[in-house]
Amino acid sequence: MFRTTIAGSLPKPAWLAETHKLWPRWKAEGAELQRAKLDATLLWIKLQEDAGLDVIGDGEMSRQHFVHGFLEQVEGIDFVHKVEMGIRADRYKAMVPQVVAPLALRGRVHEAEAKLLRAHTTRKIKFTLPGPMTIVDTVADRHYGDRVRLAMAFAELLNQEALALQADGVDVIQFDEPAFNVYMDEAASWGVAALERAAQGLRCTTAVHICYGYGIAANVDWKKTLGHEWRQYERVFPALARSVIDQVSLECIHSHVPPELMALLHGKDVMVGVIDVASDTVETPEEVADTIDTALRWVPRQHLLACTNCGMAPMDRDVALAKLQALARGAALAGQRHGPG
Ligand code: ZN
Repeated sequence: MFRTTIAGSLPKPAWLAETHKLWPRWKAEGAELQRAKLDATLLWIKLQEDAGLDVIGDGEMSRQHFVHGFLEQVEGIDFVHKVEMGIRADRYKAMVPQVVAPLALRGRVHEAEAKLLRAHTTRKIKFTLPGPMTIVDTVADRHYGDRVRLAMAFAELLNQEALALQADGVDVIQFDEPAFNVYMDEAASWGVAALERAAQGLRCTTAVHICYGYGIAANVDWKKTLGHEWRQYERVFPALARSVIDQVSLECIHSHVPPELMALLHGKDVMVGVIDVASDTVETPEEVADTIDTALRWVPRQHLLACTNCGMAPMDRDVALAKLQALARGAALAGQRHGPG
């Protein structure tokens, strides 16, 4: 009764890349690396199906990082001369590539993974792309000189790839916008508009994932500074409720997000985070079902999907798999509790 899906990334197998890292080094190169990425994708398709998930993703096996995986196919970006930049309002420093010329796509970005996904599961499939505002916050701009113009330029490219993914048979296209929780006023004033530009013309389901980041130390420390109640969503959700985007993914379990903020998403599907990605403790099905119970006070049952809080890329592979199983079992238990819809 409650559909299940993941936010996006999954741990890469040790034969593909370094493990437990957000920016892992690949273990192969060239054609061998290409083959290894697709083999890992196939592995996670099977494991997601076996766990019992309804909407299957590629686990982002083919990208070193959720933003730079897209950028590597964009012309006008200098990856050779990276510069250090404070990102997410200086929460952490990262070596980022520079925008040095007008942007254009070199070609398809995720065609191989999307086609593989479509060929190997009959379930619904979801594909994730970084959102325009989050991309702008993860590159150094030496050309456009204006964050909104740069975001709209990226949105056009994202739209090209999204339309092509739709043609590949993708059912859900999700844009990841963790930056919405950092620049709330800008998110409401132009971030959502850039997102809508990226989703323009799509007939498949569209989604946005907004979170408090991966379970890495810099984010865990940052969360400690946010106080007892995290009300960031309150400033962005009204704009999203008015937007064309169909689904919104948010953090719930073990967060300090007041659950009543979900009511601000009236009319949208809500992907409720019922799995904590910042802890290796595997949730019990009861905990997952309890979190769904809480969300049901604010979200109509037909609009509720059970999801992970965020991506699982830096996690231990066995822990991540156990959490996917807990996700599916907990959603099934919630279904039993609430009877057929
Ligand atoms: Zn996230």
